Amino acid sequence: MKRRSFLLMGSAAILWSPSLFAQERREQVEVVVIGAGGAGLAAAIVAADAGARVIVLEKMPVVGGNTQLAAGGMNAAGTRVQSGKGIKDEWQWMYEDTMKGGRNRNQPELVEIMTKGSAGAVEWLEGLGAQIPGIVRSGGARADRTHQPVGGPTFGPYITRVLLDNVVRRKVPVRRNSKVVEILQKPDGAMRGVVVQDRRGGLYTIETQAIVIASGGYGSNPKRVAELRPDLANFTSTGQPGTTGDAIDLASRIGAEVFDLDQIQIHPTQAVGAKTLISETVRGAGAILVNRDGKRFVNEVTTRDKASAAVLAQKGRTAFLVFDEGVKGSMSMMEGYFHLGLVREATTLEALAARCGIDAANLASTVEAYNRYQAQKHDAEFERDDMARPIARPSYYAIEVNPGIHFTMGGIRINGRTQVMSRDKRALPGLYAAGEVTGGVHGANRLGGNAMTALFTFGPIAGREAASYAKTGRS
Ligand SMILES: Cc1cc2nc3c(=O)[nH]c(=O)nc-3n(C[C@H](O)[C@H](O)[C@H](O)COP(=O)(O)OP(=O)(O)OC[C@H]3O[C@@H](n4cnc5c(N)ncnc54)[C@H](O)[C@@H]3O)c2cc1C
Repeated sequence: MKRRSFLLMGSAAILWSPSLFAQERREQVEVVVIGAGGAGLAAAIVAADAGARVIVLEKMPVVGGNTQLAAGGMNAAGTRVQSGKGIKDEWQWMYEDTMKGGRNRNQPELVEIMTKGSAGAVEWLEGLGAQIPGIVRSGGARADRTHQPVGGPTFGPYITRVLLDNVVRRKVPVRRNSKVVEILQKPDGAMRGVVVQDRRGGLYTIETQAIVIASGGYGSNPKRVAELRPDLANFTSTGQPGTTGDAIDLASRIGAEVFDLDQIQIHPTQAVGAKTLISETVRGAGAILVNRDGKRFVNEVTTRDKASAAVLAQKGRTAFLVFDEGVKGSMSMMEGYFHLGLVREATTLEALAARCGIDAANLASTVEAYNRYQAQKHDAEFERDDMARPIARPSYYAIEVNPGIHFTMGGIRINGRTQVMSRDKRALPGLYAAGEVTGGVHGANRLGGNAMTALFTFGPIAGREAASYAKTGRS
């Protein structure tokens, strides 16, 4: 992206900024949403329902961001789905799990809002027409609380469609190929508008009272990742190419505080040779992880940071997810991994081992021991407490995996009302942020399923606050 620089005109130097070239074409709305992922679409729906004139700007040619890719689902505690299935869970447990998973680096106020609001967020989505009656467990959770649709598409494409239908129904324009390249302020610091770059590179201004930044993370920005975390320099990303974090810089340039940018999550199970994430819920459904020696080496459903470190410590820095027909048949998303050619299969464990270059004798005894632990409900080796089913029904399957960059925990500092906070600890009037672009919710490590919870708790808050500010001029 073009950065501010000095242009030399004759002997005079003037500050270059995109707004200098965006004078001619102007539009006016009350709320601009930057980014058409889950947080942005949720904010737009709520802002429109509050009576604001809203526009969503998306830099990519397609909408959905990383939200579109979410495969596992959304965490929530104390939902009707859980109680219908006899699952006991409370927001306080989810709060404790989230803080523990994030190594207490999380901002407690934000975690409380998210976990307390999680069941309500599911109801809000249901009110928009979503049905997410399936439930599984993700790593680091003490209860089955990852909600997902049953049959049909996985969570991300499904929920994106529901949100988009609702946005369209409210006649909110979602403008693709429209990258926000500058945030404009009035002399008193309040928001004035944004400069947008269209698909041909042309610049124009949209004037607005309130802005919601919902532009996602920066996991697909290798340069930024390498600067922040040289140890992750050669890792590939599981995210879409637009996940580059440029709006973090826009906010920072007008005084927003950004923090924890080096807190970057790697996900333990990205398919080797492909940028495809193998969802944590595959392990939740009963898959185990083995190394080339045919041995398990970690509690497969531990948090992502620990599982990733364990995979990287194995020979070749990869491992194999091993599962059977029972696991395969329990989840529809599995079909996608087969279609993409990521799965090796065989009718016996020995043949599967030979196909993968795994020690066959060890693999057979590892699976036998695991099945015993599963039957006894006690994993004597790794204390895995969630073992959904044995690995006993042929055919047998394996996917070779290694860790990939998955989620960025750092970002823009917000308060509980999603107001963007300045470096000198003031709320920037009219500026809000929600979703992966914000820092503080997930601390040092995000739990699987919690990103969606954050989108659908903080996204609606941002929409409501932005609309209210646009209408009243008061924060
Ligand atoms: C493969 C994969 C699977 C995942 N599975 C799960 C899961 O099952 N459960 C879970 O909780 N989390 C999951 N996550 C994490 C989760 O998907 C993301 O954290 C979440 O979707 C981010 O939502 P968002 O709305 O903040 O951003 P996004 O959905 O990424 O949307 C941001 C949008 O803003 C656009 N944008 C960026 N900059 C600009 C700009 N300057 N101008 C205009 N537009 C801009 C981007 O192109 C993008 O479309 C997964 C992530 C990946 C990569």
